[in-house]
Amino acid sequence: NKIIIAIDGYSSTGKSTVAKQLAKHLGYVYIDSGAMYRAVTYFAMTKGIIDAKHFDADELISKLDDIKIRFVFNSDLGFAEVYLNNVNVEREIRSMEVSNLVSKVSAIPEVRKQLVKQQHAMGEEKGIVMDGRDIGTVVFPNAELKIFMTASAETRATRRYNELKAKGDNVSFEAVLKNVQERDYLDSTRADSPLYKADDAIEIDNSKMTMEEQLQTVLGLVNK
Ligand code: C5P
Repeated sequence: NKIIIAIDGYSSTGKSTVAKQLAKHLGYVYIDSGAMYRAVTYFAMTKGIIDAKHFDADELISKLDDIKIRFVFNSDLGFAEVYLNNVNVEREIRSMEVSNLVSKVSAIPEVRKQLVKQQHAMGEEKGIVMDGRDIGTVVFPNAELKIFMTASAETRATRRYNELKAKGDNVSFEAVLKNVQERDYLDSTRADSPLYKADDAIEIDNSKMTMEEQLQTVLGLVNK
């Protein structure tokens, strides 16, 4: 029988890499909840609602109903890509600019309410792996398996930096490290649904683990 697997943790802990592999292995659906917050942020950027200097949260709240987010499975890639109002924004939402603004957007309770509602609907059918910050605490407090991933900030920044470089993004390691630390801080201190480990979540520090070791560890927990 299929279950719900919640994977939470700080930025760039490799949650999505493990979650994707796990879903593939189990024949489950993978949902990247961070991509949804990123899509809302990208929407706000393109509408001039947010930039590095200003953020009109009320304006964003008034436009929330105009934001349609869908996940469309791409069989070549082996995972679902994010569509914002029927446009594939998978690449755009991973930019440093979005990364630098997303934690401001995700702190807005109305934004969270809207996205959590959609996440609940996606979880109606069991057999999903969802990763994020509040999946085991708020979205699916009854998830059968909860994982909390950690790794040092330097390890995480190095991973994110290599990922961005590989995509051809021109970023400095310092900028990436600063972003990771800032998001850790904002995500874990916001008033609504802050990031923390659920009591019944199993913590995995993957600083020194290979992808395969992480997958095997989680699979071991699924089969328990
Ligand atoms: O997972 P990812 O790093 O792509 O998430 C981007 C941002 O979205 C996080 O830094 C956080 O501000 C927000 N987020 C959230 N709740 C989630 C998933 C992501 O607040 N469940």
